[in-house]
Amino acid sequence: MQMLLAGARSHSTTNRTVQILNPATGDVIDEVPDASDEDVETALRTATAAFPAWAARPAHERSEILVRFARGLLDDQEELANLLARENGKTVTHARLEIASCARLFEKYANEALRLYGQAIPGDFEPGYEQDLILTRRYPYGVMVAITPFNFPVSLFSTKVAPALASGNVVIGKPSEETPLTTLRVCELLYDAGLPPETLQVLTGDGRRIGRRLLESERVNLVSFTGSIEVGQQVNTQRARHISPTHLELGGNDPMIVCNDADIDLVVEHAWFGRTLENGQCCAASKRFIVEKEAADDFESALEERLLRTTVGDPFDDGVDLGPLINDAAARRAEEQIALTVDQGATVKTGSARADQRFVQPTMLVDVTADMDIAHDLEVFAPVFPVLRVESLDQAVAIANDSTMALHASVFSRDIGQAIATAHRIDGGLVAINGTGLYKPDAIPFGGWKLSGTGREGLVAMAEQYTQEKTIAVRDVLG
Ligand code: NAD
Repeated sequence: MQMLLAGARSHSTTNRTVQILNPATGDVIDEVPDASDEDVETALRTATAAFPAWAARPAHERSEILVRFARGLLDDQEELANLLARENGKTVTHARLEIASCARLFEKYANEALRLYGQAIPGDFEPGYEQDLILTRRYPYGVMVAITPFNFPVSLFSTKVAPALASGNVVIGKPSEETPLTTLRVCELLYDAGLPPETLQVLTGDGRRIGRRLLESERVNLVSFTGSIEVGQQVNTQRARHISPTHLELGGNDPMIVCNDADIDLVVEHAWFGRTLENGQCCAASKRFIVEKEAADDFESALEERLLRTTVGDPFDDGVDLGPLINDAAARRAEEQIALTVDQGATVKTGSARADQRFVQPTMLVDVTADMDIAHDLEVFAPVFPVLRVESLDQAVAIANDSTMALHASVFSRDIGQAIATAHRIDGGLVAINGTGLYKPDAIPFGGWKLSGTGREGLVAMAEQYTQEKTIAVRDVLG
């Protein structure tokens, strides 16, 4: 597949390409261009030139294009879901849901863009301004760079690109080098719906080099990055001198606190769902299971029973729950993280310390203690369930908060007062009560505290994230 540059499908000026593999089989399914420095420059020039006309289009016209795209997208759902499952390794069922989320997000953000209201501020708050008419309006920033990770390539791209375009920004997208294909197809369908292609370009290839080139540019006015903390820190450092918004959605090591009185069947259902979705590679999924001691035996045995019933294999095979990790390096990293935790004193209760190619069995680690890395800052991107037994809720909260990351969290208790009081004490962008921390309706302000990120995504945060405010004051006009 070709990348989308300056209004057309394009090869790299160097003709270099990057292969895209199916992680379930290791087969090459396609190749994409490895954008050159010259291509990056072309994208930046094109976006800068395209911005004034797109920003000047009335919001209802921009919105109509995006809604037309959203309503037509489900006609192509099967083709897109198959492509997404092949490049990413997720099940086709989950891939279908992700394509549906793209349609939903584009329609909702298109509608939300029609409500980017300003304010009228009464001038008589202060002597000397009584007769002034003071209004605020919201304006797009200009050129946005949207950098996305491999795990939810379509929905995370949509979460950034739909609100950016709807509010009048133009976008240069940089999908993960592992999973660019479905994103490219989605953008072509946006063009078919009437989106001027110069307003949305997609560069493919080596993220480190292309990312650096894009981010050093003064033509970029807004950056939205989702990915690892390590790369997020580089992005932040690189953008610092530009003094323009840089939104970062980064990693997490989310705690799930299970109180003595929790409904264990419910806990296991949510723990399993959150930790196996996307084959254990979700940012906001419970990754540390902190269990009060009276509930711990029941939790471990119910979780063990559930994990033993989990089928691992090619996501295209019927009945498979869990597919592969994204690549060999990810599988090796998961093995090393399990080995490190075992070296530090944990025991593998179910699963395996070894990956089979890119497939990792769902693995429960018990005897995990607060002094181990996995209890704090080791984000494991694999279906691994470390269980920490604690003496009290105070100890559970202390462990939960003793991390440099704070994305989401969850608490399970039948005592709703106790659950709310505990949620109140936990650091993080969201705490779910009696549900997995993998909780993401489109509207909520989604994002992390501490190293897990800055800014918020979601419908309620759209105006703040994608537009800037201007006050227009008319002096002495009110009589
Ligand atoms: P990654 O950081 O390796 O890559 C993310 C993107 O950054 C890719 O498109 C990559 O090509 C690009 N990139 C790489 N180096 C770059 C550089 N120097 N400058 C600019 N861009 C660069 O992340 P990944 O492995 O694709 O995704 C997994 C990570 O993402 C996990 O840590 C996960 O927790 C996090 N994540 C966070 C959220 C969230 O919303 N908070 C959502 C999904 C994933």
